[in-house]
Amino acid sequence: MNDMTRFWRIPTPRPERPLRTAITRGFLGRCPACGRGRLFRSYLKVVNTCKICGEDLSHQRADDAPAYLTLLIVAHGVGAGILLSDELWPHSSLLWVAAFWLMVTVVASLIILPRAKGAVVGQQWALGMHGFGAEGDRT
Ligand SMILES: [Zn+2]
Repeated sequence: MNDMTRFWRIPTPRPERPLRTAITRGFLGRCPACGRGRLFRSYLKVVNTCKICGEDLSHQRADDAPAYLTLLIVAHGVGAGILLSDELWPHSSLLWVAAFWLMVTVVASLIILPRAKGAVVGQQWALGMHGFGAEGDRT
């Protein structure tokens, strides 16, 4: 290494990471880098490294974002459904309507939550957040 290269380090460009592709792959529970490896080792636990491409996924910090997204989606759908219940089932009991929408809330939340977390992890990976970037933490 001569004096010029020591002071003028040229950064290597990071490979392109398409945001939409990464979010879609994460939504489907796949590695945002290759799209073939599994993203989760259990219901919401993200694998540390992809078994197919070796991408380090331990940098993810989804925190509460998946829960917020799930609540946003489910609350709007169930809220509209509750308001429409009187039109859909005019002579049904209040207990039956409440039990139905409670069940819909639980099932929809359980279905959407891991998909929202995968999408958030894919977004973080594509944007190089929290150590996903080659040049360090860009939060
Ligand atoms: Zn992978």
